[in-house]
Amino acid sequence: MARYTGPSCRLCRREGQKLFLKGERCYSGKCALDKRFYPPGQHGQGRKKSSDYGNQLREKQKAKRFYGLQEAQFRNLFSKAAAKKGITGDNLLIMLETRLDNVVFRMGFAASRKEARQLVTHGHFRVNGQKADIPSMQLKAGDVVAVKDKSLSSPKFKEIREMTISTPEWISIDTQKLEGRLLSMPTRDQIDTPVAEHMIVELYSK
Ligand code: SF4
Repeated sequence: MARYTGPSCRLCRREGQKLFLKGERCYSGKCALDKRFYPPGQHGQGRKKSSDYGNQLREKQKAKRFYGLQEAQFRNLFSKAAAKKGITGDNLLIMLETRLDNVVFRMGFAASRKEARQLVTHGHFRVNGQKADIPSMQLKAGDVVAVKDKSLSSPKFKEIREMTISTPEWISIDTQKLEGRLLSMPTRDQIDTPVAEHMIVELYSK
């Protein structure tokens, strides 16, 4: 399935929620959702309430778009989450959070998940000293993500050294070394993604 290449802000407007797809712009007064808080399209302002199925579908779309996955990737991840012990919805969110591209974003090495995915595929990172260029790579507690030596001198990463970055409590970073560690796997209450994951489970259980 082809990756969505249209305007990112349109996706936020469709979901009625900031999905933070454009880095700094999302935190500025230029955010499209702040200006036009209604769905895109000719009938955007006239849409009525949707059904249970419609609401479940929207939650799934929101999660998928928030983390930048395609439908097949998301479905595949859901199947893996369902096969694990524990609560499927929690497993799903934890697996989404511990993808390499998301961790790079959470460590502050990229302004958005989209940029993180690009930096990973361009080979700027190592995990536990090994080359890591697959955005969907699942990380575990104790893993160390570091900018590779050759990339340390690039303007992008030099800039990050000057920044103050706040990270979730399950991640620690060393901005001088440009590396971070997963202190533990995140728990559901440590994940601030605005998604009702139980609705995604209901949708896929039909
Ligand atoms: Fe979404 Fe960011 Fe665009 Fe705002 S600026 S609508 S948060 S992508």
